[in-house]
Amino acid sequence: MRFHTLDELFARHRLFLIDAYGVLVTSSGALPGARDFIERLNRDSEREYFIITNDASRLPEDCASYYGSYGVPVASERVLTAGLAIQTGLSELKSPRCFVLGTQATKTYVERAGGTVAPHDDKGEFDAVVVGDDSGFDVLPTLNALLTALHRKQVEGAPRPKLLLANSDFLYPRGGGGFGFTSGAIAKLLLLGLEHLHPDETWAFETLGKPEPALFQLALKRARFGAPDAVMIGDQLPTDIRGANRAGIASTLMASSLTKLPLDPALPKEMQPTYILRSL
Ligand SMILES: [Mg+2]
Repeated sequence: MRFHTLDELFARHRLFLIDAYGVLVTSSGALPGARDFIERLNRDSEREYFIITNDASRLPEDCASYYGSYGVPVASERVLTAGLAIQTGLSELKSPRCFVLGTQATKTYVERAGGTVAPHDDKGEFDAVVVGDDSGFDVLPTLNALLTALHRKQVEGAPRPKLLLANSDFLYPRGGGGFGFTSGAIAKLLLLGLEHLHPDETWAFETLGKPEPALFQLALKRARFGAPDAVMIGDQLPTDIRGANRAGIASTLMASSLTKLPLDPALPKEMQPTYILRSL
């Protein structure tokens, strides 16, 4: 295994798709090289970039000012979030009422997608569940109400609500070597409850962010360049690397505390990165 350099990526690619958390920033600040890297791309008229983030807790404009507050200057139209993909997930439902787990921004994404936000009670008056983030609600009481509502609907034979998960990441790096559970873990806990109550049924969330294709397709639609020119840079094999491989885009694993290096040679092919960077 060898580490590649940013110059090698610049020599081979014109469209950069960049994960935010664990690549540009952590919750405690910008990562080394992030500011120089984005400034280099901002100056480079031969290249283009988008931030592709599973964040559904902030609107694109809020993400841009958040990165900016850490000195990483990204324009909001370059930020593509999993929150934007909520529209794709709700598209086949007409005026859906949604049980939303997430922040005010997650609710705004639902409303921008044509949905309304249902109250956090166990009455079950909703058509979809949208899990967007681990914050903005009291986790256990909300999950208890949601589990009860879904159980009742199942027992009564009511139509099963669509289960949507904007961000399937299970953990996130908190900086200082720490970790936190994120919305993928919250969705998993709900599924465990449903499987426990209804073991003969199959329960699954439809995932909206990486590794699903929606955000990659949105980036390619907006970009001047196509998949052969593109490279994804991310720190998570199951989302960033798998998503890029599925979209036919070269992938770069950025080393972080979440992935053991060297990589296991028995890793499934769709989780093997094209390049590995030590840092930016
Ligand atoms: Mg990341």
